[in-house]
Amino acid sequence: MSVNIGGMARKTGTSDSGFKVTLSPRGASRLKDGHVWVYRSDIVSAIGVPAGALVSVVDHRGQPLGSALYSSSSQIAIRLISHEPVADFPALLRQRIADAIAYREPLVHDTNAYRVIFSEADFMPGLIVDRYNDILSMQILTQAMDAELVRQTLISELTERLQPASMVERVDPRVRQLEELPPRPSSLVRGAGGSTIFTMNGVQFHFDALEGQKTGAFLDQRENYAAAAEYSHGEALDVFCYQGGFALHLAARCSHVAGVDSSRPALEVADQNAALNRRDNQPEIDWIEANAFDLLKDYSSSGQGYDTIVLDPPPFAKTKRDLDAALRGYNELNLRALKMLRPGGVLVTCSCSYHVSQADFLGMLADAARDAHRTLRLAEVRGQAKDHPILLNVPETAYLKCIIASVSH
Ligand code: SAH
Repeated sequence: MSVNIGGMARKTGTSDSGFKVTLSPRGASRLKDGHVWVYRSDIVSAIGVPAGALVSVVDHRGQPLGSALYSSSSQIAIRLISHEPVADFPALLRQRIADAIAYREPLVHDTNAYRVIFSEADFMPGLIVDRYNDILSMQILTQAMDAELVRQTLISELTERLQPASMVERVDPRVRQLEELPPRPSSLVRGAGGSTIFTMNGVQFHFDALEGQKTGAFLDQRENYAAAAEYSHGEALDVFCYQGGFALHLAARCSHVAGVDSSRPALEVADQNAALNRRDNQPEIDWIEANAFDLLKDYSSSGQGYDTIVLDPPPFAKTKRDLDAALRGYNELNLRALKMLRPGGVLVTCSCSYHVSQADFLGMLADAARDAHRTLRLAEVRGQAKDHPILLNVPETAYLKCIIASVSH
């Protein structure tokens, strides 16, 4: 479709659905600056647009800005999916899936567990797909991705390309509520079973697709596990160990390893994982059920020493408002860990809060080092694994920080 504006024929960018959303100048400039989200407050009109529709987005003068997925309930009303009109949405999705798989082929090594599709970063906003050996785990986060035609396209294309034995859908009830989608339980959508064993960096893990946090494991830390292991030595403590991701990697290099978590079910899986990986020359891992804050306080005040400490807490800042409290929490943990590290010791410290920037996190660590009277040498400033790509103009896609530093004295 074209219209005549000032004598020049221009494409309106109308997608086949015919629905149109008009943005305020501020909303339009967000897209022009390379972001893919527009908030509800920057929508000027979305008359008659149904929940989850594919829409064409125009600025207040009617200039086309691309095609987007519309949410009628989320604060993020618009998620851009293409700069062009989209004539055939299922075909676009199939191409995007093929592209996401091809993108990872040269990047993902030494693992049969990795993120296949990372939402905006793979130009499929609202869709996360993880692979754990022969199981695919899918998470749908928006109205548009939940539409039946879309779901069926995703399931059939992923099945055809990756040939999983099973596919499960993991549901976050809170997300469905926010998107005003009817509740749906996590379930097997294809195949016979939801459990398997996957391998990363030569370490094996049990996986139960319908249990556990996120989609089951922390794939974003995969490359950091291997990096942490390279620096690790002596007596090691993995704090917030969950199912043993870091601890199991450290066991190959360290004389003693302990993992701490407040979740007993997580530690039970960690222990089963340890049994899968035990080698004659490796130490047994002690799993300690405790509140990490209390335990670090006790250990540091009783003068306990370590050569390697990993800190990988849950996100402390869920919103920008939590930033100060989050930094205080990180400071407390890092200060105590630094006090416990022996000279030459290694700290691996992580934050998965998007709202805590890398600069904030390094600043917190510098303060903690000063207060602990330790000289810290930065070995590596790391982020999320390469199968969780970052879109430079969408800062929300960069969330994980993993700093490896050694204590000089
Ligand atoms: N390092 C893990 C991921 C950690 S996720 C990995 O690589 O797999 C965060 C973990 O912190 C969860 O397992 C959660 O049970 C645990 N946790 C949350 N609050 C805690 C607390 N106060 N003390 C100890 N563990 C806690």
